[in-house]
Amino acid sequence: MRFPIFRSPDGTEAGSGTDLQSRPTEPPADVTRPIKVSARDVNVYYGDKQALFDVSLDVPDKTVTALIGPSGCGKSTFLRCINRMNDTIPGAQVSGTINLDGQDLNHRSVDPVLLRQRVGMVFQRPNPFPKSIYENVAYGLRIHGLAESKAEQDAIVEQSLRRAGLWDEVADRLHNPGTGLSGGQQQRLVIARAIAISPEVILMDEPCSALDPIATARIEELIDELREQYCIIIVTHSMAQAARVSQRTAFFHLGRLVETGDTEEIFTNPRDPRTLDYITGRFG
Ligand code: ADP
Repeated sequence: MRFPIFRSPDGTEAGSGTDLQSRPTEPPADVTRPIKVSARDVNVYYGDKQALFDVSLDVPDKTVTALIGPSGCGKSTFLRCINRMNDTIPGAQVSGTINLDGQDLNHRSVDPVLLRQRVGMVFQRPNPFPKSIYENVAYGLRIHGLAESKAEQDAIVEQSLRRAGLWDEVADRLHNPGTGLSGGQQQRLVIARAIAISPEVILMDEPCSALDPIATARIEELIDELREQYCIIIVTHSMAQAARVSQRTAFFHLGRLVETGDTEEIFTNPRDPRTLDYITGRFG
């Protein structure tokens, strides 16, 4: 089931027509899959401080795109633009256009709650709700009215836990607290919670930074499996991780997108000297 993200002020579904299209300011990126998220001239300010400068980036569907760059260069800020989490930060202002399937996310008719159903997010620290494993996954289904019966809800919870590679470890203790799981299991639980409500895009903000190498490897395997179905955008401070999990990479520096391309190309033959300096460890 798919819900529109647009609502007119009276609550009815608003149009998704060409009036909401962005004005492209550069030719489409050299990507082979359909573009899922398209950003043009995105600027973000926190009060007087500008964190992003004219960022334009096309993100293909069913692909993992890594956002890399030194700490403070705006990776998380850009990620938060895609599900309008910056709206929740006092003093944050976003300009420019970000389209999801050609629809402007910042249009006033967009309901951020419905948008966040389509664009899920996984954070640095696993953040299960203080509820049971089952409830963590069922919660979003209930909020969005996505399961018509208890049996359907049970089936979606199981399917989501299976897809997140967690079912076998928790099937016999679904009613235990989610917070009782290990860090890596909690992160997979959070991913199960995200995929239960059938998102199209999954944003991941350094999802492995609090995990040990074994748990990290599990999450990376999972990301690789999930990309068959979702558009995944991952912020990572680890270039090795970007190289392992992503097919596309975007390098940010001082709030600007320096270059983007196939991951292999970015890591072996970057066009910009700043990218080369970063990937060879000269700064960052
Ligand atoms: P990165 O993810 O690359 O480390 P961020 O997007 O977190 O970078 O930060 C970009 C810039 O914006 C930094 O200078 C940071 O200090 C600033 N910044 C991020 N979040 C906030 C906030 N909530 N309030 C004020 N400044 C912020």
